[in-house]
Amino acid sequence: MSALSNNLIQWHKDKGRKDLPWQISTNPYKVWISEVMLQQTQVKTVIPYFERFMKRYPTIESLANSSEDEVLSYWSGLGYYSRGRNLLKSAKILKQNFNSKMPNSSEDLQALPGIGRSTAGAILSLGFKAKAPILDGNAKRVLVRYFRINDPIDLTSTSKLLWKIAEDNLPEKECNIYTQAIMDVGALICTRTSPKCSECPLSKNCISFNENKQNLIPVKAPKKEKPVRKVYWLVLKNKEGEVLLENRNAKGVWQGLWSFPEFNEEEQRAKYAEQLPLSNPKSIENMRLKHTFTHYKLDIDLQSIEIKEKLANFDNNKLWFNNDEIVNVGIPSPVLKVLKKIKSDDKNCFLQKV
Ligand code: SF4
Repeated sequence: MSALSNNLIQWHKDKGRKDLPWQISTNPYKVWISEVMLQQTQVKTVIPYFERFMKRYPTIESLANSSEDEVLSYWSGLGYYSRGRNLLKSAKILKQNFNSKMPNSSEDLQALPGIGRSTAGAILSLGFKAKAPILDGNAKRVLVRYFRINDPIDLTSTSKLLWKIAEDNLPEKECNIYTQAIMDVGALICTRTSPKCSECPLSKNCISFNENKQNLIPVKAPKKEKPVRKVYWLVLKNKEGEVLLENRNAKGVWQGLWSFPEFNEEEQRAKYAEQLPLSNPKSIENMRLKHTFTHYKLDIDLQSIEIKEKLANFDNNKLWFNNDEIVNVGIPSPVLKVLKKIKSDDKNCFLQKV
């Protein structure tokens, strides 16, 4: 066993995390759900989402029998919604082809939507206690520092090298403990900024630490400026306190989620709003919101209007929602932010403090 895996395993037995919700009475299904939720998201954010999700979907079959709207309602605010859509698609495949069980081969796992090599490795090692490597963001950071790899971490060639290192350092036994340990050290000790090397079980052999370069690694390729997309939202509220939402059925990051009607041009929105029966001219409020995605930024110009009547002649993909109904569908976080204000603020100026 390498010094790296030996030190990690010994450390985890003493100090690692053992009481996260997905570690208690663990199984491959729980590991899968938690790993998908943890992609791009911190543990403390994931815990309440995981608990709610498992309560509603305790088995693969219960998930497979659900609808996209309902699954996304359990994802509201968590972001990266394709993860939720892919969980449902995968659960349906598992029900159909694997008797509602998680397969125990990396190939079968990676053939499922939303499961990459590292997630498959985590399911195998943590869920099935098999010998399989992972290479999530935390493990990558630990390995590039430990072996002092100066190449940018986001290059394909670096990734190839890291997979080889991850495989070479797998222990024959207790791979599940090793996997959890490298995740924990990455999350708790070998942190992105100011790693706590004095507390690290790997400090003796860590090349970056011994050369005092731990703050210079990982090296990242220079970032490109993200493009900005400007959109115009219309928040329509009726006298009964309901809001109009439209289902984003086009392909995209919010596919299947419910959002405010969106326009590409301010004039289009104005034209649309002109035909609406306003409750009074003062019911119009304007504001701006910004939201950042992985590949672009959204600059949202938002206008809210209170209308007199509950108009019914909207397209099929638009519906009025009251507060109780809103919790049953998937809502992206900037929309949730606005909706929370609608619930809590003065009726006539609900957008001012968002
Ligand atoms: S010694 Fe420091 S840099 Fe090296 S793995 Fe530990 S925390 Fe990271």
